[in-house]
Amino acid sequence: MSYDLIVIGTGPGGYVCAIRASQLGMKVAVLEKRATHGGTCLNVGCIPSKALLHASERYAEAANGFADMGITVNPTLDLAAMLAFKDQGVKGNVDGVEFLLKKNKIDTFQGTGRIVAPGKVEITGANGDKQTLDTKTVVIATGSNSVELPGMPIDEKRIVSSTGALSLQEVPGRLLVIGAGYIGLELGSVWERLGAEVTMVEMLDRIAPGLDGEVARQFQRILAKQGMIFKLGTKVKSVATDGKICTVTLEPAAGGAPETLEVDVVLVAIGRVPNTEGLGLAEIGVKTDNRGRIVVDKRFETSAPGVYAIGDVIDGPMLAHKAEEEGIAVAEILAGQAGHVNYDVIPSVIYTAPEVASVGKTEEELKEASIAYAVGKFPFTANARAKVNRITDGFVKVLADKETDRVLGVPIRGADAGTMIAEAAVLMEFGGSAEDLARICHAHPTLNEAVKEAARAAEHRAIHM
Ligand SMILES: Cc1cc2nc3c(=O)[nH]c(=O)nc-3n(C[C@H](O)[C@H](O)[C@H](O)COP(=O)(O)OP(=O)(O)OC[C@H]3O[C@@H](n4cnc5c(N)ncnc54)[C@H](O)[C@@H]3O)c2cc1C
Repeated sequence: MSYDLIVIGTGPGGYVCAIRASQLGMKVAVLEKRATHGGTCLNVGCIPSKALLHASERYAEAANGFADMGITVNPTLDLAAMLAFKDQGVKGNVDGVEFLLKKNKIDTFQGTGRIVAPGKVEITGANGDKQTLDTKTVVIATGSNSVELPGMPIDEKRIVSSTGALSLQEVPGRLLVIGAGYIGLELGSVWERLGAEVTMVEMLDRIAPGLDGEVARQFQRILAKQGMIFKLGTKVKSVATDGKICTVTLEPAAGGAPETLEVDVVLVAIGRVPNTEGLGLAEIGVKTDNRGRIVVDKRFETSAPGVYAIGDVIDGPMLAHKAEEEGIAVAEILAGQAGHVNYDVIPSVIYTAPEVASVGKTEEELKEASIAYAVGKFPFTANARAKVNRITDGFVKVLADKETDRVLGVPIRGADAGTMIAEAAVLMEFGGSAEDLARICHAHPTLNEAVKEAARAAEHRAIHM
């Protein structure tokens, strides 16, 4: 069988690319080594983590937040049922991808793919059987894996990666999370809400690197109020476990006296590395950079003609929607269209309570680039809907070019920030100004009115403040 396109990996980058290519008339096959489609995101990433964040947030709300509304409940936790709720959500999503691949007449192969020569992809099935497919082009969408700390092997029971942390069979009394990025903060929040004492250890002197500094500081204060313990500027020297207890040795990143902690579970969430193992890249001349990412040009083509790469395996934020955009862009490029991705407008969201979302530049980045900017800020304490629902934590910040008024960045900390950020992304994609945003009629009473008011505040004319 000969194909126009073979996509290796059916995560959000790969399956979206395959569907778009099929829509554009190509004969497409996908290879996936997992038993189910959807990649990290649907199986062990975005989707299961959001299911647990949703369920644990409801649990915490029922325990602490309902009484004010006149609802008295005394919730009890059935962790096995909560994990089954998560698994059902995952199944619904991965089944959905299988349906979409079928509907788009894409051939699916289960097994590990390797590019053995230009236009030839070998698949090794679970039983070791091999077959080779012919294709005009290949898109590598093999994603990423969690980073392990040297000398601290992941057993997914006591020392876990994000995958193990999504399936702990009991709530740990004490959970230590190494790495205060979004994965560590989200999964730390889940177990903290379910009753664990959570300690976040971070080498940097701040949480959520890449997020607007002011938002990150306030975000940390809120999480600390919820019960999280932060040890910033701190390095983990060693973790040892006897299968029951983990003994963790920490020391200040800048040097100093070590301290020892005993915890029940350690979650290692220090980042992810591109997954290129066994693809045969060196043999066919595909270059990687010093961080193991596949190097591509503006058309997502690698140094081997006819071989393309997208998603977590190349440079850029490791986010599902970034991988999807690249999947669509490369399919359109292969069909002779002008596919492209605007890397200046890729929103990112941390799905804690409250959520934190941002798009575009941070204040720190604007200062670094010597771009003069105006700041408009509006707190949810002054938003009618937030006040009546008692979700007043947080604010919207609009950063606009001082000269042109074009919106350059919007961070939001507050309930539903992840949904609200979309309007900032739409505006920025169209090159809109703070005045444009301020003049758009927003429904009342909605949390989004705070976005409009922040845009008005950029020109010192907020109404409700
Ligand atoms: C806990 C967690 C939470 C996350 N939450 C979010 C979130 O809320 N929002 C967000 O945007 N992102 C989130 N992410 C990141 C997101 O999951 C990734 O950015 C996204 O999955 C990358 O998509 P991808 O298609 O590049 O790769 P992946 O989703 O990693 O898919 C790659 C696929 O390729 C397969 N594969 C690899 N090698 C081969 C081979 N040789 N042959 C055949 N198949 C192969 C793998 O089995 C895998 O299924 C989260 C990640 C984690 C771990």
